[in-house]
Amino acid sequence: MEHRHKLRNILCPVCIRGKLLHVVAKMDLIGVNTYPPSQSLRAELFVKCPKCKNQIGISIKH
Ligand SMILES: [Zn+2]
Repeated sequence: MEHRHKLRNILCPVCIRGKLLHVVAKMDLIGVNTYPPSQSLRAELFVKCPKCKNQIGISIKH
């Protein structure tokens, strides 16, 4: 089957505990950056941390 992706968690940069998203492990090579609310202008998308409730910005290097 095709469901064999290795996943890794992207952790909240504020509390380092909240799991914001799961990405395919090979995305390591591309890079996912997370930003606290103070740097959110650099982000392309946003998720709310399930632990600390901060709005965390995310950008993906293309
Ligand atoms: Zn958090």
